[in-house]
Amino acid sequence: MLNIVLFGAPGAGKGTQSDLLVAKYNLNHISTGDLLRKEIADQTELGKRIKSIMDSGSLVSDDIVVEMIDKAIASDKQGILFDGFPRNVAQAETLDKLMAKHGRRLTCMVSLDVPREELIRRMLERAKISGRSDDNEETIKNRLKEYENKTLPVAAYYEAQGKHIKINGEGKIEDISANIVAAIEKL
Ligand code: AMP
Repeated sequence: MLNIVLFGAPGAGKGTQSDLLVAKYNLNHISTGDLLRKEIADQTELGKRIKSIMDSGSLVSDDIVVEMIDKAIASDKQGILFDGFPRNVAQAETLDKLMAKHGRRLTCMVSLDVPREELIRRMLERAKISGRSDDNEETIKNRLKEYENKTLPVAAYYEAQGKHIKINGEGKIEDISANIVAAIEKL
């Protein structure tokens, strides 16, 4: 059973590539960002607590996302594509423990590599149509800062486990997808 972490900066194309991978391998797509946005849209207690944090582009607390991930792994029967999780080394360590608890193993972590200027260009472009309240110039800068300070070290964590697959995230969507699939098939 495949269990994959799709990793990359905001704007790297994780959403687009997730959709293609999920369709190809019939995976369960677990996006912590989507789950959190649903809490906000449904105006739950949790949604009210996290709205201002997400609007600022900062990460929400680990406990919140870890609980969501624990539930998702417990109910999954087909293999998971993790999108937007783990976002820091503590979350990566917790994911290893949760997978072991449920008798599962992470197959690999695929990271999409895109230069900073291109990330900003893509996010500003997306901001015109996404309707996401965190797609504005100020928040984009904070999201990139959070990524560089907290999320980037996660790549080294998986590198040390021999599970890090680096893919060039620039170019045609279908070529990037083909490169990801080729790397997964090689495992
Ligand atoms: P995303 O859709 O992955 O870009 O996430 C949007 C926002 O949701 C982020 O800027 C964070 O505020 C929050 N978020 C998503 N995933 C996580 C996570 N694993 N840990 C903490 N915050 C997260």
